[in-house]
Amino acid sequence: MNVYDSEQILRVLSPLGYEITSFPGAADLIIVNTCAIRGKAEQKAFSFIGRLAGLKRKKPELIIGVGGCVAQQEGRKILEKIHYIDLVFGTQALNRLPGHVMDIAVRRCRIADIEMSPEIIEFSPGAPVVNGNITRFVTVMRGCDNYCTYCVVPFVRGREISREPENIINEIRGLVETGVQEVTLLGQNVNSYGKKEGLCSFSALLKLVNEIEGLFRIRFTTSNPKDLSEELIFAFRDLEKLCGHIHLPVQSGSNSVLKRMNRKYTRELYLDKTDKLRKALPGIAISSDVIVGFPGETDKDFEETLDLVRKVEFDSLFTFEYSDRTNAPAAQFSGKIPGNEKNKRLRMLLELQEYYNAKNNRALVGTTELILVDGFSKKHNPVNGQDGFSGVQWTGRTSTNKIVNFVDADTLSGDGNLLGKRIDVMIEKAFLHSLWGRPVNVKPMPLKMKGEESYAA
Ligand code: SAH
Ligand code: SF4
Repeated sequence: MNVYDSEQILRVLSPLGYEITSFPGAADLIIVNTCAIRGKAEQKAFSFIGRLAGLKRKKPELIIGVGGCVAQQEGRKILEKIHYIDLVFGTQALNRLPGHVMDIAVRRCRIADIEMSPEIIEFSPGAPVVNGNITRFVTVMRGCDNYCTYCVVPFVRGREISREPENIINEIRGLVETGVQEVTLLGQNVNSYGKKEGLCSFSALLKLVNEIEGLFRIRFTTSNPKDLSEELIFAFRDLEKLCGHIHLPVQSGSNSVLKRMNRKYTRELYLDKTDKLRKALPGIAISSDVIVGFPGETDKDFEETLDLVRKVEFDSLFTFEYSDRTNAPAAQFSGKIPGNEKNKRLRMLLELQEYYNAKNNRALVGTTELILVDGFSKKHNPVNGQDGFSGVQWTGRTSTNKIVNFVDADTLSGDGNLLGKRIDVMIEKAFLHSLWGRPVNVKPMPLKMKGEESYAA
């Protein structure tokens, strides 16, 4: 969500003449877009802000702004605590940002704007702010009304509100024209998309997106298990562009913990929904979020989480130690779990999940997977090569969201450009978080990117 919001920040500021730079020292304006979901994210934001002090000393006219959820939560306190910050703007102040930046540039004032508004902000479509991307995020709704007891989102992002389907479709069409082939639709709980406003259902929205010509893949996140509808489960079976992966955060395998988290589902319901998903689309990948050490979580509760992980055999898991958040009710709950115990549980959970990562990835060795190439692999080194390879290492994802790295014979010289190509890869090796493959044949590209030859068979 912050990636998407940062793009919107760039969009509203570009009419003022601002452009992105990779060199903080060259910047006239630095915006720190913060996340408050866990204590760690907030600490990271403040330590990054701390490192900007030197830049401001060297260049006093530099404008530094802090936006996002930490800004929404702390407001003016940030201006009081950190003397070199010029601007604090909340999650619903993006449309007022250009005015604030201009004011500060002209009058050298300091501004805090954390006003919430019940309306959704739509930015007029314009030139894309980031070019050359193959995959992009698109927010379909903002805020959240669920009030899970550990969560800060409803307080810092406000009430749930959905965008009109027409605006979403137009935005995606515009992205496709620039070469985007995959979109990930974003919402805290996509299942309640449009309900309040009487718009179409999320599944109906997916059908509309599925019809967009030139778009290759659709993903979405996040669906709360309590509202995962049959209609959405069948969308995985029926919509050819919808990828075979769902992120379905379970948080805990214990009914008593789920109850105190206010998640409004049981482990039985979760297991039932994952069964139905696998029946609708055999081979669907399921990933999840788990919080360990929620207040009052007993050894038995935690054992039930481990048991659920064994039953579902997740493809991947994001694991978090519980942390108290401002305004979130669980911060007041008794039975806080000490840090070392949370850490122990986290390590046990990670170890168990690694077994299933390896098992699920190993099962793909010998199969052929269609991947969308989205860039160079992390280990890619265009000069010397690494891992004994002297050529270009590319990376792409399967429909099930597995990362596949490979070297392509035709691009060993580094001349060929596979970015955005859809190619079949034979999986040869499985690692914990990625796969290694070899291109087997090359499909002609139905969608040509401007000025590029398709990767000829
Ligand atoms: N809307 C999504 C979750 C968004 S937050 C959903 O309901 O599934 C992303 C993840 O951060 C959550 O799934 C949860 O696992 C984690 N998280 C949120 N608040 C947390 C807290 N206080 N401590 C630890 N993890 C937290
Ligand atoms: Fe937070 Fe729960 Fe809303 Fe997800 S559904 S954003 S965890 S309150």
